[in-house]
Amino acid sequence: MEIYKTVQSLQKFVQKQKDDGLTVGFVPTMGALHEGHLSLIRLSQATCDRTICSIFVNPTQFDDPSDLEKYPRPVERDIAMLESENCHALFLPSVKEVYPDSLEATESYDFGFLEKPMEGAHRTGHFDGVAQVVNRLLEIVQATHLFMGQKDYQQFKIIDRLIELTQRPVQLVRCPIIREEDGLAMSSRNVRLNPEARAKAVHISQTLRKIKAGFGHKSIIELKKWGFEQLEQVDGMSVDYFEIVDADTLQNIDDVSESQQVIACVAVRVGGIRLIDNMLLKVH
Ligand code: AMP
Repeated sequence: MEIYKTVQSLQKFVQKQKDDGLTVGFVPTMGALHEGHLSLIRLSQATCDRTICSIFVNPTQFDDPSDLEKYPRPVERDIAMLESENCHALFLPSVKEVYPDSLEATESYDFGFLEKPMEGAHRTGHFDGVAQVVNRLLEIVQATHLFMGQKDYQQFKIIDRLIELTQRPVQLVRCPIIREEDGLAMSSRNVRLNPEARAKAVHISQTLRKIKAGFGHKSIIELKKWGFEQLEQVDGMSVDYFEIVDADTLQNIDDVSESQQVIACVAVRVGGIRLIDNMLLKVH
């Protein structure tokens, strides 16, 4: 695997692939890789001729400085994992390389309602930072395909809209959520859970599964209230939000027949760690 730390060297590599008529899949990450990330790499490998992964802990998307500081950065281990997946290239830039002038965003995008609820309401400026870094990385990498996880569902919708707004010629691919054996959605933050919090975290996916089983039998309002209460009553867990929304617009729905796709999304804090998860309840 080639490791590129500068924009110039990476772009030379990409240009060569494109000159050879090859497709280039791009998997942006913040590192501390796990099977969830690797599933994106594998999907890219299966879809595209070349796969580029980036590891960049983007400072502009953290609303909490201590979260940024504590974000795990096991780079050597990440490199070994990518090598064992035969990933073609890793882009491992410094902050200065990604943002040569300043951390301030030069563009702002109107994502409409997509950025308002859930993560948008609880993490000020988060999606501005996400849009800024993904746009910059796409500008650098010039990939033909972009692979992103359903795990960060609202983020996926924002990036889908970003691509539409910027009219970048890149195909966005949504990748399913990879879970631990007990159902906990894999996340780089899971390593920071102490054993007690890790045991409690299993309630998140269990509650989502029960919500899915109850979908169609109970009203959305009842399900939302039940889901919130189930998690809130776990000792030491607090719920930022538990929403059941239209999976396309992220708008609240009262009646399931109003929407072709419905998703339940949740964010909780347990043992000082914030975890998110979601589950599609209705797909068309
Ligand atoms: P991150 O390093 O957390 O920024 O994640 C990089 C990419 O991996 C994003 O597109 C995430 O949605 C995706 N991802 C994170 N966790 C999972 C998971 N458990 N299953 C599938 N994709 C994931």
